[in-house]
Amino acid sequence: MNAPLDPKKLIKGATGDWEVVIGLEIHAQVTSNSKLFSGASTEFGGEPNEHVSLVDAAMPGMLPVINEECVAQAIRTGLGLKAQINLRSTFDRKNYFYPDLPQGYQISQYKSPIVGEGAVIVDMREGESITVGIERLHLEQDAGKSLHDQHPTMSFVDLNRSGVALMEIVSKPDMRSSEEARAYVTKLRTILRYLGTCDGDMEKGNLRADVNVSVRKPGAPFGTRCEIKNVNSIRFIGQAIEYEARRQIGILEDGGTIDQETRLYDPGKGETRSMRSKEEAHDYRYFPDPDLLPLEFTAGYVEELKSKLPELPDEKRARFMADFGLTPYDASVLVAERESADFYEAVLAKLANKARDGKLAANWVINELFGRLNKEGQDIASSPVSAAQIAGIVDLIGEETISGKIAKDLFEIVWTKGGDPKVLVDELGMKQVTDLGAIEKVVDDIIAANPDKVAQAKAKPTMIGWFVGQVMKASGGKTNPQAVNDILKTKLGI
Ligand code: ADP
Ligand code: MG
Repeated sequence: MNAPLDPKKLIKGATGDWEVVIGLEIHAQVTSNSKLFSGASTEFGGEPNEHVSLVDAAMPGMLPVINEECVAQAIRTGLGLKAQINLRSTFDRKNYFYPDLPQGYQISQYKSPIVGEGAVIVDMREGESITVGIERLHLEQDAGKSLHDQHPTMSFVDLNRSGVALMEIVSKPDMRSSEEARAYVTKLRTILRYLGTCDGDMEKGNLRADVNVSVRKPGAPFGTRCEIKNVNSIRFIGQAIEYEARRQIGILEDGGTIDQETRLYDPGKGETRSMRSKEEAHDYRYFPDPDLLPLEFTAGYVEELKSKLPELPDEKRARFMADFGLTPYDASVLVAERESADFYEAVLAKLANKARDGKLAANWVINELFGRLNKEGQDIASSPVSAAQIAGIVDLIGEETISGKIAKDLFEIVWTKGGDPKVLVDELGMKQVTDLGAIEKVVDDIIAANPDKVAQAKAKPTMIGWFVGQVMKASGGKTNPQAVNDILKTKLGI
């Protein structure tokens, strides 16, 4: 990809501008009831070693059996990433010793992954978007966990996670700022959640990133990269990149060179530090796992999974824009989480005239409801105002029963006390006065009482605002402002 260089993304160094290059390897835990090669539960929490089968504990003679649901989830994810699905893939052993890896190797896919190249479109601010290439997605097992803080002299091992299916999603080095990297992870997580293939819960470690960072002078070949392992929040990904880029620039500007190495990010100190020099593939002695046949399925199987995929965020966004005239920004806000898109669609379903009021409904969902939920530290799940209530308010505005201003008062009542908006406007006498005769009467009274202002308004037509204000005040805000304006203009002769 050869996007033009954006000067905003460059980092200023002592010797001029630098460009940061980022590629991410995301480990996403597959949503599945049981593990990749055993029937043990994947449930989070529980007592240590509660969810461990003989396979996960690597007892001698145990054989792995592939879990079809995990395979289907990887294919769905590949389809969601618009990627090549490989009808034949193979499992390899990646050998290394670690106390929480009882097999002495991790089963992974090395040469032939289940999913090949794809792409993710990432919307940035100001209507810009970037495309991040996907290199591959492969299935692999998670390891267990060593517990070092439970006993003064011993470390314990918990194998609950051992054997849980992970998708490793490897991007191309297509990101050029920490902001782009954060937006990419956010978008990827949204896609996974729409698909239901990973819950994206970073606090539980269900989505974590290895962050590869290098720097170069604009236009120069890629520099040597460092890989920051296992970063588990989007904010930390951004911070780690910022720190790491500046560290590398500092070394290069002092005449040094970057050693390819694996580093860790310390959120407390806000810095990365060296963990080990980069291991090479041959260090792992990868070889095909003799216990597992190649994974093969038909194009028909892929087609069947494809036909059942939900509508994904990009398509949903395009539909919202085409059908209801939403701005790209509003449409992006609504599709950013599946819950908010579902809420908006529930409002649409209840509207009396969605072609007319779909856009207005989006404004109400985003500005009034989400704005308020944000302010009160709540989310859609705990919203005191339902989709039907928002639709009720929007209907009333759309059919001009109430003004936008009165609608805000009505929203306040619905938020605090509940109730059906259509019943409330009747009960509380909030209906807009559209009876032109009644409005004229008010206008006449105000004109008669203020001859000096009338003279001023004739000289300076913007004074009409003062009259509109008076009429609105006299009617408790219930008159239609456009009607008031029109009548005033006629009566004042301006
Ligand atoms: P490995 O298998 O050794 O981890 P890969 O070639 O698979 O190496 O790359 C791993 C990740 O590093 C990918 O996400 C890729 O985009 C990224 N990457 C590769 N080269 C660079 C570079 N020069 N700068 C930043 N990231 C890079
Ligand atoms: Mg790697």
